[in-house]
Amino acid sequence: MRNARTALALTVVLAVASGCARGGAQGGSSGSAAPVIREASAGGVGSADGADSSGDADAVAAHDAAATDADAVAEARAKLMLTETYYDDLQHGDKGAAYQKYIVLHDTEGDGSADGVLAYWEGNGNLVAAHFIVNKDGSILQCVPMDRIAHHAGWGSGNANERFGITEDGRDDLLGRQPSDVYTDYGMNAWSIGIEMVHVGGETYPEAQLDAVDDLIAYIDAYYGGDGGTIIDHKMWRAGNSDTNPEFAGYLANYQDHRTHD
Ligand SMILES: [Zn+2]
Repeated sequence: MRNARTALALTVVLAVASGCARGGAQGGSSGSAAPVIREASAGGVGSADGADSSGDADAVAAHDAAATDADAVAEARAKLMLTETYYDDLQHGDKGAAYQKYIVLHDTEGDGSADGVLAYWEGNGNLVAAHFIVNKDGSILQCVPMDRIAHHAGWGSGNANERFGITEDGRDDLLGRQPSDVYTDYGMNAWSIGIEMVHVGGETYPEAQLDAVDDLIAYIDAYYGGDGGTIIDHKMWRAGNSDTNPEFAGYLANYQDHRTHD
């Protein structure tokens, strides 16, 4: 998830784990707080707000629809090897379902495990993270709840907010954001879910990992009532970014076409 401009500065650190870490550590430790580790929850977005109280028939229909959605979310989640570890300082504001428009795919640019990547994010003071990290074996670590903003996409290039039809509406606390003298648009984080794949450019993506990304996208789609948003990769938001790597191009086309890698 690094950008090209800071690649050299990050080289040493990247040997351990990199992920979304943009260079230019702001100094100071982040005072690593104890993580909150949660058991599986299959809640999904509360869809009860679809019910207005205009008659019994509507209320029953809405109730049935909500129950079906909850079942779909639970079923999709049950297919994942998913654990959750949350730190408050990696969460940057609320992102209700109305603000979910994109799923942004990234590579970590390091072979370290998801646990190592999260430890790096939490420890480096940049307050950067993605919602999910997918290991090569298909196991998944969730680092930020889906209804919270994570800083995974950073600055976008070329009138990025306008290109993607999003605005900066103040929900993002912007804590840890590094200044840019080149880019002006920082909206994507507040409108997206970020998924990191443990991957270094030039490697193949293991089938187990790709299958897990398929299932994760299905889970996100279920969570948002069937549509988790448009799938892009990081370099679509920011031209020149290194991820996803070129060997992912065919998979990305498939994800954009039908939401699975094959
Ligand atoms: Zn990235």
